[in-house]
Amino acid sequence: MVIVGGGVMGTAAARALSSRGRAVLLLERFTFGHANGSSGGSTRNFRLTYHDPVYVRMARQALDRWRRLESDAGLELLRVVGGLDVGKATHESAAALQAAGESFEWPSAAEVAERWPVFRFDGGVSFLYQPEGAILRADEAIGAQLRLARAAGAELRERSVVNALRPRGEGVELVTSDDEVIQAPAAIVAAGAWAAPLLRSAGIDLLLQPTLEQSTHFVMDGEGSSVPTIIDWDAAPNQPPYLVPNPFRPGEFKAGSHLSGPVIDPDTRSFDADADREAGTIGWIGERLASPPQLLRTETCLYTITPDEDFVIDRIGPLVVASPCTGHGFKFAPLVGEVLADLVTGEPPPVPLDRFKADRPALRV
Ligand SMILES: Cc1cc2nc3c(=O)[nH]c(=O)nc-3n(C[C@H](O)[C@H](O)[C@H](O)COP(=O)(O)OP(=O)(O)OC[C@H]3O[C@@H](n4cnc5c(N)ncnc54)[C@H](O)[C@@H]3O)c2cc1C
Repeated sequence: MVIVGGGVMGTAAARALSSRGRAVLLLERFTFGHANGSSGGSTRNFRLTYHDPVYVRMARQALDRWRRLESDAGLELLRVVGGLDVGKATHESAAALQAAGESFEWPSAAEVAERWPVFRFDGGVSFLYQPEGAILRADEAIGAQLRLARAAGAELRERSVVNALRPRGEGVELVTSDDEVIQAPAAIVAAGAWAAPLLRSAGIDLLLQPTLEQSTHFVMDGEGSSVPTIIDWDAAPNQPPYLVPNPFRPGEFKAGSHLSGPVIDPDTRSFDADADREAGTIGWIGERLASPPQLLRTETCLYTITPDEDFVIDRIGPLVVASPCTGHGFKFAPLVGEVLADLVTGEPPPVPLDRFKADRPALRV
């Protein structure tokens, strides 16, 4: 069983499959923990709050799996800080949370100001607070999944590039950049921003677009560790600004705008911050924080987006396609790892997958 891609999804699948006693070979083109793709950096936002009950329910199942990963790895990976959504879009999220049986609060502007005096908001906006919002230690999560997969016998290869996939009868041949031909009964393609051209080599054409995103890191005096994550839907409904605190480094937080980056080629993309977008983020933070924080740095990162912003999790012959991104996949990783393993072994997955089919019209090129 071969897995292409050692990001958070590929390493989650390697852990899930090797823990079931399956022989696993994981091939990663760079080194594990690199910052060239989508899983680099220190933190990710975990939340139950979504506009759609399908994702609310998946997030609940994922939370259980994060706790299991923490106990298997003997490491804290997820710390609860609460999640505050701001704006008209909160009403849609409230309906989705209710449909999934999850609790939440509607704090007033006065309650928000009293509870988090570091923030300031315009009058008349709606606030939805979900107490189980949390922060994930992204780099530690990948490390933990790798350690557990290796301990369960998985073979993990770095600097191994798969150039082509050739379905053959019941199985598939994977051709590496060293012209090695690896035969396997099945392969998981968790290649992130590089997925589309690799799948095309197997005759699978999907509309998966890599974009260049960025988040700007700051540090504020004292209070940082007790603030929730923020998503400010009213500021820009399609590209909402967000704030993600880092409770593991009190005072530090990052901010950015979701889905605001240009389409790029992952092999030639820049690592430089976009000055206009950085200025936009600094401006938004200046409006939202009572006192200006210190700017630390801006990091770039890649999304792989689908036109309908839904994931691709499906099996096509000997290939299992894993593109759970569009900038919101990390929080589901240990659950997705389990689902990918189920698609390989033929066991029933714990979540309905019809929404994530590869042959849905939105993905047609
Ligand atoms: C700025 C930013 C903020 C985000 N914030 C959040 C958040 O708060 N919450 C959340 O849930 N999600 C968030 N996400 C999304 C989340 O990080 C991604 O959905 C997730 O990391 C995708 O993981 P992946 O394993 O699919 O991709 P990747 O980590 O990119 O893994 C793909 C791997 O495949 C390797 N590879 C590619 N081609 C080949 C090949 N031919 N041969 C061998 N190896 C290959 C690559 O080197 C890479 O390591 C954010 C993303 C970004 C960019």
